[in-house]
Amino acid sequence: MELKVDLEKCTGCGTCQFACPFGAIEVTGGKAKVFESCTDCGACVDQCPEGALFIGVRVAGAARTQEYRNVWVFAEQRDGALTRVAHQLMGKARGLADTLGAKAEAVLLGHNVDALAQELISYGADTVYLAEHPLLERYRTDAYTKVLSDLIREKKPEIVLFGATTVGRDLAPRISQRIYTGLTADCTGLDIDEGERLLLQTRPAFGGNIMATIACPHHRPQMSTVRPGVMKALQPDTTRQGEVERVTVALGDEDLNLRIVEVVKEARRRANLEDAKVIVSGGRGLGGPEGFKIVEQLAEALGGEVGSSRAAVDSGWIEHDHQVGQTGKTVRPELYVACGISGAIQHQAGMKESKFIIAINKDPGAPIFQIADVGIVGDLYKVIPEMIKQLKAVGGKI
Ligand code: FAD
Repeated sequence: MELKVDLEKCTGCGTCQFACPFGAIEVTGGKAKVFESCTDCGACVDQCPEGALFIGVRVAGAARTQEYRNVWVFAEQRDGALTRVAHQLMGKARGLADTLGAKAEAVLLGHNVDALAQELISYGADTVYLAEHPLLERYRTDAYTKVLSDLIREKKPEIVLFGATTVGRDLAPRISQRIYTGLTADCTGLDIDEGERLLLQTRPAFGGNIMATIACPHHRPQMSTVRPGVMKALQPDTTRQGEVERVTVALGDEDLNLRIVEVVKEARRRANLEDAKVIVSGGRGLGGPEGFKIVEQLAEALGGEVGSSRAAVDSGWIEHDHQVGQTGKTVRPELYVACGISGAIQHQAGMKESKFIIAINKDPGAPIFQIADVGIVGDLYKVIPEMIKQLKAVGGKI
C-alpha cells in the first residue's frame, strides 16, 4: 500500500504538508507531491479537506522505484588503502549489475585517495564517485553520512552495499534512516529476483538456526551490509576502463559534531582474520586455554593469525573476535590450519572457501578431513611442535 494523491481533487492548500510528520509532502505547481521519505503512515489523509489523499494499492515496480538504477559499493578505505571487503563487494556488485543490466559503481570517500579509483575499476567498477576532502580523511559518522546520503539522493542507485565492518555497521543504518529505506545487516548471500528487480538478501537469524531471505520491495535503494570474506573479489584487470566522477563536497565544521583530537590505536591487537593470508585455528581438542600458546607459535612461524572454533570461545579460552564460522567470521585465507577442530558444519561455513586446508586431528573420522587438502591424523601436541621445527629449518618459508 502507498500514499496517493488524487490530482483532480487536490487544490494545493498545503494542509497535508503541515500534517506530515516526515516532511515527505510538498506542494509544487499547485499540487501535493509525495516524496520517497513517505512512510505511508496516513497522518495526512484525515487532514485533507478535499479528501484528495488516500492509501492505495502499490503497483509493482511503481514510479518511485523505477527511477533508481545501478549497484553501488561503499568502497571503504583505511589509511589510504582499500579494505579487502571493498574488493569483494565490487566483485559481487559486478555480478548483480550484470544480471540487472545495470552499472556496478563505487563510492570512495577520503582525502588524497584518487589513486584508489583506478584500483576499484580494475576490480569491476564502471564508475567511481570520488569524494575527497580533508574532513573525510578519517571515518566520521556525521561527515560520511552527509556526503553519502546527499549523493544517493542525487544519483538514485538501486542497490547500495557496505561491508559489515565497524565502519559499515555504523554508517549504513544512519544512511538508511536519513533516506528512509530498509537495511538488511550482516548478509551472507545476495541474489536478484529478476522478475521484480528485487535484491534477495540472505542472513543467519535466530542465533544462526535459520537462514532468512529479506527483500525491500517498496523503498529504494535496497541496502545491505555484507560480511567480510563471504563474497569473492574478481581477479583485478588493470586494462579495464571506467569513469571517475569527482563529487563536490560541501562540508564545513558546522556539519560535524565530532572533532578528532588524536587517534590512539588499541593496545590489544584484534584478530584481523578477514584480511589474513594464513590462519591457524584451535578447537576443543586443545584441551584448555594454554593450548592456544602452541597454536600462536605455529601462527607466528607461518606469519598468520589465530582463529578458533566456537567451542573454544564458549569455553572462555579465547575472545570471540577469533571465532570462525556461521556465528563468527567468514574467512578465505590462502592457508587454513585446523588444530583439534572436528569440522562441524557451522565451523565449515566460515572457512571452507580457504584455498588450502590442513587439518590435524586424532580422530580419522573427523568431518574436517572431508574438506582438508592435507589431513594429519595424530596428537596435535606432537604434530604442531614438529611442524614448527621443520618450518624453522626452512626459515619459515612454505
Ligand atoms: P569438537 O567438536 O568437540 O571437536 C574437537 C576435536 O578435537 C575432535 O574432533 C577431537 O577428535 C579432536 N581432538 C581432541 N584432542 C585432540 C588432540 N590432542 N590432538 C588432535 N585432535 C584432538 N562452531 C564454530 O566453530 N563456529 C561457529 O560460528 C559456530 N556457530 C554455530 C551456530 C549454531 C546455531 C550452532 C548450533 C552451532 C555453532 N557452532 C559453531 C558449534 C558447532 O556445531 C560445533 O559444536 C563446534 O564447531 C565444535 O568445536 P570443536 O570442533 O572445537 O569441538
